[in-house]
Amino acid sequence: MALQDFRPMQERCSNCLNCRWVPFDKLKSERFGENCPSIAYNNFMTYSARGRFQLGQTILDGDADYTETITELVHDCMACGSCDVTCKVCRYNLEPLEHNIELKVDAVEKGKTLPAQAGIMAALKQEQTMIPGSKKAQRLDWAKGIQVKDLFKDKAEVAFYPGCKYSYDPKLQKVAQAALKLLIDAGADVGIMGNADACCGGRALQMGFRAEFTERAEANIKAFNTAGVKVIVTPCSDCYHALKRQYAKLGLAIEVLHTVEYLERLIEEGKLTFTKSVNMTVTYHDPCHLGRLGEPFVPWDGTEKKIMNQVHTWSPKRPRYNGAYGIYDAPRNVLAAIPGLRLVEMDRIREYAWCCGAGGGCSQTLPEYSAWTASERITEANTTGAEAMVTACPWCEANFMGAVDEHGKSIQVFDIIELVQQAL
Ligand code: SF4
Ligand code: SF4
Repeated sequence: MALQDFRPMQERCSNCLNCRWVPFDKLKSERFGENCPSIAYNNFMTYSARGRFQLGQTILDGDADYTETITELVHDCMACGSCDVTCKVCRYNLEPLEHNIELKVDAVEKGKTLPAQAGIMAALKQEQTMIPGSKKAQRLDWAKGIQVKDLFKDKAEVAFYPGCKYSYDPKLQKVAQAALKLLIDAGADVGIMGNADACCGGRALQMGFRAEFTERAEANIKAFNTAGVKVIVTPCSDCYHALKRQYAKLGLAIEVLHTVEYLERLIEEGKLTFTKSVNMTVTYHDPCHLGRLGEPFVPWDGTEKKIMNQVHTWSPKRPRYNGAYGIYDAPRNVLAAIPGLRLVEMDRIREYAWCCGAGGGCSQTLPEYSAWTASERITEANTTGAEAMVTACPWCEANFMGAVDEHGKSIQVFDIIELVQQAL
């Protein structure tokens, strides 16, 4: 699709601004009632999904162009999908997230990018990672010392795919190591992608670099198919969304599981049992790309119709991604199985969770805004009385840890895998 294909959607946005707020019946407090970081931070209507529809229309009409301010505004969206869920509470025929990303694609194709994006995309092209300064030759260093199959030398059923952040971030590599060891110890027939291991490209798509995403996706799909695996397991929520939803659109037919789903299965099958108590009160942060954006891709082949020249509808009925079937229970079930652990919930959870601030590449491109978004979530976590915030994504964990360090916020931050490891 191109931006002009979204014109009917731009025209039928009803200006209700549901895309700014948690739905009334889900609202727990005024303080944590907003759901879009972009308009909450900038406090200007054009930053909302509604404003983005109007901006897209104005650009198509030739009445606005990508000035420096508008370029930054377009890329200021975290692609967190929160507006997409709340819009669909009252509307059935709009796709705000797809439009937000298409606006970015349009800007990128016209050369309108943010300064930091040049270095990120150069790293993707040269080193197949979204993390500038990291080298392809060091991508597998995190797995040194772990006896695991290389899927291009040995066959295995499961591919463990850690993603860029876990592969390179020295503070987080221990999580990928622990996850892989858990799988091996539970008897999984697992391997890693060896020299074919590379960025999923998901964040490139979130930033509007669709051609670069497609290139990475096609190469990775070919590699997974050549490896002949039956399941791909990833501990990264961004990778999870890319593989499960976006790659499926491009033909990937292999089952994709997040590590929390795999751990939940192991617990249910009695292959993972806990022997120690973790006496701690925690709150769980739903990563956007595991939660509301973790729903599977449903193929659809139909046409858009207009009834009475007013209502847009689709024949046959089109799948509706409203976040209701994201991955929310698996992480909570894993936490519930850990002896001694108590879970207390924040005001905004499941499909209405507030973004960690790292989405859409914003932790790398717009760091102040990203840190504010993380800081808001930590403030919300603090109101629960929890000692720690737990999540299931390295980008969330890193952004929260950064906000704790920089803003003097007091809460511990863990990945679920770290707590599972403590309980063994
Ligand atoms: S994008 Fe959706 S929720 Fe936002 S103003 Fe338009 S119709 Fe309302
Ligand atoms: S995707 Fe997230 S940041 Fe972007 S407009 Fe929607 S709610 Fe706001």
